[in-house]
Amino acid sequence: MCGIFGISGHAEAAKLTYLGLHALQHRGQESAGILVTSGDGEHTSRYAGVGLVADVFNQESLDRLSGDRAIGHVRYSTAGGSDVRNVQPMIAETGTGPIAIAHNGNLVNGDVMRKALESEGAIFASRSDTEIILHLLARARAQRFQDRVRAALAQVTGAYSLLLMHQETIIGIRDPSGFRPLVLGKLGESYVLASETGALDLIEATYIRDIEPGEMVLIDKSGVKSERLYHAPDEKPRSCIFELVYFARPDGKVFGSDVYSSRVAMGKRLAKEVPADADLVVPVPDSGVPAALGFAEASGLPFRHGLLRSHYVGRTFIEPSQQIRHFGVKLKLSAVRSVLDGKRVVVVDDSLVRGTTSRKIVKMIREAGAKEVHLRISAPPTKFPCFYGIDTPTKKELIASEQSLEEITKYVTADSLGYLSLEGLHESVGDDRNKRRFCNACFTGDYSVPVSSA
Ligand code: AMP
Repeated sequence: MCGIFGISGHAEAAKLTYLGLHALQHRGQESAGILVTSGDGEHTSRYAGVGLVADVFNQESLDRLSGDRAIGHVRYSTAGGSDVRNVQPMIAETGTGPIAIAHNGNLVNGDVMRKALESEGAIFASRSDTEIILHLLARARAQRFQDRVRAALAQVTGAYSLLLMHQETIIGIRDPSGFRPLVLGKLGESYVLASETGALDLIEATYIRDIEPGEMVLIDKSGVKSERLYHAPDEKPRSCIFELVYFARPDGKVFGSDVYSSRVAMGKRLAKEVPADADLVVPVPDSGVPAALGFAEASGLPFRHGLLRSHYVGRTFIEPSQQIRHFGVKLKLSAVRSVLDGKRVVVVDDSLVRGTTSRKIVKMIREAGAKEVHLRISAPPTKFPCFYGIDTPTKKELIASEQSLEEITKYVTADSLGYLSLEGLHESVGDDRNKRRFCNACFTGDYSVPVSSA
C-alpha cells in the first residue's frame, strides 16, 4: 500500500507531483515526500515528512523544490514500520550520480537480501525493503543504467511498482507479476507516471496506457522508450484483485478493469448468490457503496444511507495501532435512526478482515433500531495474509482463517452473513478464470511468488 507519482520535463514538476499525491492519498496516509531534480541530475532536492500530503507540504516547501523532473510517494508501511527514516522517495549517492527511488509493493525476499548484503558489509539507513534495491543498484556493474536496473531487480522477488530517477532519466517499472498498478500519461509535452488514473485526471493529463508487467519505461528529453525488465522464470501476470475490491479509487481503471463497475457487478452477483429477506440495503461508506448499489439493483430492495461517514477522520484501518482503530470506527461512522428503526437491513461492505469493524457496525445498526441485520461482503473470506503489499494482518488475526461462517456470523452478531464466491469475484472484474490474470492469494493462499524468510 503506497502511491507513487512522477513527472518529467515540466517547469512545475514539484507542484504537479504534490497534486498527484493528493489524488493518491487513499493509498497511504503515513508519510509523503517529493524529490526533484534538473539538468544532469546532480542537483536534487527532497522534502518529505510524516503525515498527510496537505500537512507535510506548504507553499514554501513546494517553492523550494525547483526542478523539471520529480517523483513523489505516499506511504503506508507494509514493511519496515512507520519510522521516519523509511519515508520515501529515498536517495543514494553512487559513483554515477544520485539515484532516487519510490516504491509501491513489498519484496518477498527482502529479509534474505538484507541479511546477505549486511553480511558483506552493507550499512542500511532504514528498515524499508526499498533500500535493498538501492544497494543492489549501487553494486551493479553494467555500463547502461537500465542494465544495472535489470541486474539489481533480477535479485529481488515480490511486488514492486517503482519510479527511479537517475541523471536525466525517470524510469517506471512493474514487476514481472504486475502485482501493483502503474500507468503512463501525458500532460502537454511532459510524461507522467502514477499508481492510478485518478492522479492523471486531477492534473488533466491524458491516460496513455498501463505499464506492462515486467516492463520498464525510460523517460527523458527524447521521449519514452520501453524495454523488457528481464524474463522471470514462469512469468505470468498476477495483478492484485484486492485493488479492485477495495484499494483503488472507484473513479478510474485498474489493470484494464473499471473499478466502479467492477464493484457494482460484485454487488449484483452477491445479491444473486446470497440473497436476503430484508427491507433495505445500506452500504458501509465509502468503500461499500458501489457494491451496495449493485446489490440493491439486483435484489429490487431500496438503497438507503443508513450509515454516515465523517469526512474529517481518515481511514481507520490504516492506523497501525489496534487501540486507535477500535476508537476510530465510532469516530468515523454513525447510524441514521430514521432510516434503520424497525427495519430488516442488508449491510454491504467490501471485505471482512479481522471482523472487529463489522462487529461494531452491526451493533451500531441494532442500537439505531434495526430489527434484523444481514451482513453481505462483496469479496470471498480473507483467509491468508498478503505478502505483496496490501496490509492484511497475520493469519491468526484474519477471522476467516480460523473460524467457520457460523462462528463469524456469531462473532459479528449478524442475523446472517454471506460472502461473494471466488468465481463471482473473478467474473465481476471481467476475468476469465482460465486466464487468471489476477492474484487472489488473500482468498486462496495461492502465492504465485514464493515467500522466503531469512
Ligand atoms: P475488519 O474486518 O475490522 O478488519 O475491517 C474490515 C474493513 O476494513 C472493511 O470495511 C474494509 O473496507 C477495510 N479494509 C479491508 N482491508 C483493508 C486494508 N488492507 N487496509 C485498509 N482497510 C481495509
